[in-house]
Amino acid sequence: MLKRTRQREVILRVLQKTHAHPSVVWIYDAVRKEIPNISLATVYRNLKLLLEQGQISELELNGNLSRFDVRTDLHEHLWCEKCNRIFDFDINPEVSKELESQITPKTGFRISSHFLVFHGICRECLPD
Ligand code: ZN
Ligand code: MN
Repeated sequence: MLKRTRQREVILRVLQKTHAHPSVVWIYDAVRKEIPNISLATVYRNLKLLLEQGQISELELNGNLSRFDVRTDLHEHLWCEKCNRIFDFDINPEVSKELESQITPKTGFRISSHFLVFHGICRECLPD
């Protein structure tokens, strides 16, 4: 029981320390520095649990690449095509509402949530 709690704490701490929205393999590598004998399956199982508990969120990009996020509130993402890092972006809530308000009258589509990803190149990857 204690061991399981500690595993989850380490995983959460690893996620809290990065803003790059890491993949499960990246998280696994970081967690192994503290818990060398942990398995990838255990890391994955704990991530699923943290997701169920609403402590983290998951970004599904291109349907296959899962990346994890310590933030669970509504925010948008910027994805760098060069370094593959993902950055948070807090869009003005009014802009967000405005965007959603255009959709229902035009399409009858009732929105439950949205997920925006902007693709491009980050400041660090841009040539000077
Ligand atoms: Zn970059
Ligand atoms: Mn995020």
